[in-house]
Amino acid sequence: MFGPISFRRILLSRILLLSVPVLLIGQFLTYRQVRLSLLAATHDSLVQSAQRKGDDLSRFLTTLRLSASVAREASAVTTGNFAGSEVFFNRLIQQLPDSVECIWLESIADGQVVANTCEMIDASVPTYEKEANSPTSDRPEAAIEIQTFFAPMGEAMRSGVADRPGANPITQTIESKAEQATYFLLNAPVTPQNGTAPRYVLRLTAQLPPEHRNNDDTASLNLLSDATLIADAADTILSYPIAGYVGHHLNELPGYDRLVQLTEESSAEFAQRAILSSSVFNLDNQTRQAIIGHVRIPDPTLSPNDRDPSNASNPEWVVMAVADLEFALNNLAGVCGVMFNLVLLLLAANLVATLFLTRDLARPIERLGRYARNIECNVTPEALPARFAIEEFNQLAAVMNASIERLKSWANELSAAWQNARQANQLKNEFLTTISHELRTPLNGIIGSLRLVRDGFCEDREEELDFLHRADDSALHLLTIIDDILDISKIEAGTVTMVPELIDLRKVVLEAVELQQHEVDTKALELNLSLGESNVMVYADPSKLRRVLVNIVGNAVKFTEVGQISVSIQVRPSTLRPSLPSSTDEQIKQSALYAAIEVQDTGIGIDPRVHGKLFEPFVMVDGTTTRKFGGTGLGLAISRNLLEMMDGQIAIDSLGLNRGTTVTIEIPLSKTNVHEPALASSAPRHETASESDS
Ligand code: ADP
Repeated sequence: MFGPISFRRILLSRILLLSVPVLLIGQFLTYRQVRLSLLAATHDSLVQSAQRKGDDLSRFLTTLRLSASVAREASAVTTGNFAGSEVFFNRLIQQLPDSVECIWLESIADGQVVANTCEMIDASVPTYEKEANSPTSDRPEAAIEIQTFFAPMGEAMRSGVADRPGANPITQTIESKAEQATYFLLNAPVTPQNGTAPRYVLRLTAQLPPEHRNNDDTASLNLLSDATLIADAADTILSYPIAGYVGHHLNELPGYDRLVQLTEESSAEFAQRAILSSSVFNLDNQTRQAIIGHVRIPDPTLSPNDRDPSNASNPEWVVMAVADLEFALNNLAGVCGVMFNLVLLLLAANLVATLFLTRDLARPIERLGRYARNIECNVTPEALPARFAIEEFNQLAAVMNASIERLKSWANELSAAWQNARQANQLKNEFLTTISHELRTPLNGIIGSLRLVRDGFCEDREEELDFLHRADDSALHLLTIIDDILDISKIEAGTVTMVPELIDLRKVVLEAVELQQHEVDTKALELNLSLGESNVMVYADPSKLRRVLVNIVGNAVKFTEVGQISVSIQVRPSTLRPSLPSSTDEQIKQSALYAAIEVQDTGIGIDPRVHGKLFEPFVMVDGTTTRKFGGTGLGLAISRNLLEMMDGQIAIDSLGLNRGTTVTIEIPLSKTNVHEPALASSAPRHETASESDS
């Protein structure tokens, strides 16, 4: 079931397994980076927005303070002309921002309102704490004080001035989460022109400017596009994006801990934040998350004179610009859409590229595999075409082709060697048969002859001598055979030694021919000798040369029943030496003169197909045909080896069966008679055996 998988499938699965996750991880990281960038950009703009809001708020309260300061110095106020004051206040309020709701002048002594721009003063407006806040200094430096208080939205002016002792806006708790609005109450003590201590207090109520209030509109709340969160120095919420939290302490917020953490870290720290979820906090108890940018501003209700620049713990307000996380990441949806399409596109492209790649890579391998299988199944394939698209595969195909060719040639060589070995074995068997026959024949002759003589079967002494003579001949023949075997083994062992000397070739040839004379006469063959008239001097071992010539002439006589045998000597350049590449040395060698002895017969001839093998030991052309002539098949092998040791050559040639044989022997001519060109050019003179004998 889990057998080997094809290369194509492995390649495809591996590439896809690797590339698809990498692609998806890459996309995820890109998404994460885009999200982080969007959040960081939103955060930066929120910080700027918070800074602007803080500045606006400080400016607003400074304006109120300045206006109150100017108003209390107005002559209508200081002279106690209360009707004039009211007119002045009405004019002033028109110049002030819309969020300023009411200006009135109140007697410090009894709290009676002496001039007023509004009909009613909200009951929630706190009582002016005259003991605590009454200035002790001389006019006009009496301090202007700003208080913060909360009242239900739009109700600040509903009732008249009410004396509500102990109603401290900062510390009062708000039981219900009914919507509250943040108000500022400004108290500017007024010292009459001739007075030394303040007798009135100019009071002014203003709602938190609209840009710092959060719209109650549900849609904009959902968007939270840059809403405001303001907390004063005591962490009381003055403005919050969601209704119902104004006037509460920050720690009542659901995401308080997170908010504290965020307001304590710097902007740079925020930017470095890798975990995006930690840059947001929960606005309410639900899943609604917001991202904030915050600044800390000096408490704007305190005048700059009240602050101590050297004191680091001056009271501070926190102003935050808040945006809905969803809104901040609004653009991410579009980016995600593009990325999703991109991923699909990349996956498709990756798949197509992988398919093409696996096809290109797998095809050559599949083809090489098929090719190898065909070879294994002995289906002799054509040479593998090296036309793949990939260069390395072309090289591989070329190498495979070359290897297969080499293997084929080795296989052929092996097969030939095996054939040769078989043939050699067969030859050895034939040789053993032949040699035992060859040994038995003379041995039987010797035994038979000797027994006849020993047992007295001979009629007379002459017959006895005849048998003894035959026994002697047979013994000599036996000796020759044994000598042959010894010689070939010596030659093969490399222990034959040459004793070369300057000899006349004609003399040696004549000796060899004479040894065969008896046989020639017996067969009534015609013997033609053409040995020339002058000496043919060669530098050779005479006994070894004689041995060769006896074997060659002996073969000619042995294998010829009728006809003639011609033996000739010529002096000429070699015709048997293989032609070598031209070089000066070789040319000299080629042009050197040789004594060429040619022994030609009209005997049984040789099948041209076996010419080359005859010089191998134990080879006889055909056991059945040649055995009747006797012999061991060693003569030609011994002759060639001996001649090569004397720098000579031998060749055997025949036109075919029963068409005679010519054996040619070449021996380098000794330098002593190289100068006898007459011999080389002279026409061979045919002479009969009788002539040479004479
Ligand atoms: P052998 O002792 O058998 O003559 P050789 O080596 O001299 O051994 O010869 C090998 C074989 O070559 C012979 O058996 C014979 O078949 C063939 N041969 C050699 N000389 C001749 C020739 N003159 N005519 C025909 N066959 C020859």
